[in-house]
Amino acid sequence: MAKFVFVTGGVVSALGKGIACASLGNLLKARGLKVILQKFDPYLNVDPGTMSPFQHGEVFVLEDGAECDLDLGHYERFTDINLSQINNLTSGRVYETILAKERKGEYLGRTVQVIPHVTDEIKRRIILPAKEHPDADVIITEIGGTVGDIESLPFLEAIRQFRLEQPREDTASMHLTLVPYIKAAGEIKTKPTQHSVRELRSIGIQPDFLVCRSEKPIGDDARRKIGLFCNLDVDHVFEACDVPSIYEVPLRLHAQNFDKLFCELLGLETEEPDLAEWERMVHAVLNPGGTVKIAIVGKYTELKDAYKSIIESFIHAGIPHHVGVEQVWIDSESLEADDVGDHQLAEIFEGIHGILVPGGFGDRGIPGKVNAIRYARENKVPFFGICLGLQCAMIEIGRDLVGLEKAGSAEFTPESPHPVIHLMEEQRGITNLGGTMRLGAYPCNLLPESRAAACYGELEISERHRHRYEVNNSYLKQFEEAGVVFSGLSPDGELVEILELPEHPFFVAVQFHPELKSRPGRPHPLFREFVAAAVAHQESTNRKSVDQAAN
Ligand code: GLN
Repeated sequence: MAKFVFVTGGVVSALGKGIACASLGNLLKARGLKVILQKFDPYLNVDPGTMSPFQHGEVFVLEDGAECDLDLGHYERFTDINLSQINNLTSGRVYETILAKERKGEYLGRTVQVIPHVTDEIKRRIILPAKEHPDADVIITEIGGTVGDIESLPFLEAIRQFRLEQPREDTASMHLTLVPYIKAAGEIKTKPTQHSVRELRSIGIQPDFLVCRSEKPIGDDARRKIGLFCNLDVDHVFEACDVPSIYEVPLRLHAQNFDKLFCELLGLETEEPDLAEWERMVHAVLNPGGTVKIAIVGKYTELKDAYKSIIESFIHAGIPHHVGVEQVWIDSESLEADDVGDHQLAEIFEGIHGILVPGGFGDRGIPGKVNAIRYARENKVPFFGICLGLQCAMIEIGRDLVGLEKAGSAEFTPESPHPVIHLMEEQRGITNLGGTMRLGAYPCNLLPESRAAACYGELEISERHRHRYEVNNSYLKQFEEAGVVFSGLSPDGELVEILELPEHPFFVAVQFHPELKSRPGRPHPLFREFVAAAVAHQESTNRKSVDQAAN
C-alpha cells in the first residue's frame, strides 16, 4: 500500500506550494520511489478550463486531455512523470459527482451532506491514484488555497479523518508558511507561522514538517522557536529562501535532509539519491554564457503565470546552447494602432532575436499579432507560432503572400470571405464550453526533409492540444503555391498540425502546445531549435553591426 503525503499552505497564497510538492516528488523519485502527485482545488469550477488565464494562470493540459491547474505542470517538469485526469480535483468536480449520484437515487433516501458525503468523496479521490497504480510508493496531495479559507474546510476534514483511519506511519503532513522579514525592525517574524499552524491544529491536523518560505535565511534560532511553538522537532522545520531558479529548490531542501526525514517518518527504506545530473542542469541555468532576447507577443502579458510553461520551456531550451533566454513581453494590442508602420515595428523589435506568438482565445490583440508575424517573416527574424500563433500566421500569409486580402478566422471574423481558419468538424454543434475542445495528445506525421522533421529527428510524433479551430483545408493548395510547407499532419492527413516557410531562417508554427512537454533535462526540440535560430540571428546581426562600424 502506498504512503500519503498531504501538503497545505498558510499565511498567504502564492508561496510556491506547487514547487515544494514538485521538489519533494523529484527527490523521492531520485530515491527510486514511484511517486504520484495530485492537486485538490477548493473552487467550484469543475476544472480550470473555463477560467480566464488572468484569473488562474495557464491551463495545463495532460496527455489524456485533462485541463488542469498549472501546478501539474510543475509536477510533470520536476518528476518527468505524466499525470492524468484523476490527479486534479476541484470542489466543483466533487459536487458534480455527488449530485449525479443523488439524482440517480443512489443515496437511498438519505440526506446528502458535506459530512460524510463530500468528505467521503474526497477520501475516495485521495486513494484513487493508489488503486489505479498499485505499484505507487507515495501519493503526494496538494490542497490549494490557504488554511483558514472556508471553502477548503471539507478537504482538511477529509485529510484529518484519513490520517486517523490509516496506520500512523502511512501518512505525513507538510505545511508551507511564510516567515516575513520586517525591514524596519531588521528581523524575521515567526508569529504568522505560529498562528497558521495553530489554525491547522485546531482543525485536528498536526503538521509533521514545516517549510518556511522567506526572503532571508531564517537561521537556527528561529527554526528552534518555530519548532517549539508549533510542536515540531527542529529538524522538521525547513528553510526555503527565495532562489534565482525554481529548479534549485530540491537541492536546497535535500541539503537539509528533507527527503531523508520524509522517508524515515514514512518508514520507507531507500538509497541516497544521485542528484548530479539535476545539479549540472541547475548550474547551467544559473551560469549561462550569454543571453538572447525573445519577444513574446500575447495579450495576457501582465500575468506571467498565463504563459508559465512557455517561460519554463525557454529556460530548458537555453541550456544546450549555453544561453539564458530573456523574454521581452509585448502586449499585442500595442502593435495594432493605425500608425504602427514598419518603422515603428523595427523600433519595437530592435535588438530582438526571435518572436513568439503564443496561444490564446478571442479577437483582442489579433491585428497586433498579425503585424508581428509579418515583421518576422519579412525581416527574417526567427518566428515560432503556437496554436493561435499558427492561426495568425495563416491569416498573415493569406493576406500578404496568397493575396486573400480579407483572410480571417471564423473565431473572430466570422464574416470573412476567406476563413482560412474555421471550426473543426467535430466542434460543430457543441454548446457546452467546459472540456469540449480538441484536448490532449494526438499523433502527428512529419514531412521528411522538413525543418520540423530535422528538429524532432523522427517522423512520428505526439503532442498535446487545446483548440476548437483548425486550418481550412480548402486553402492548402493556394498556400503551398505561395511557398508554405505543411510539414506536420494528423495521420489521416486531415488536420494541419505544423506549417513552415523554407525560405526563412526559422518560421515554424504549430497547432499544438509543445511547451507542455518540455522538461528541464529534455528541452522540447522546437523550442531548442528556435533558440538555436535566435542565437544565429544574434550572431549575424552582431557581425553586421561590426562590419558597418568598420566601413
Ligand atoms: N482560439 C483558438 C482555437 O480555439 C486557439 C486556441 C489556443 O491557442 N489554445 O482554436
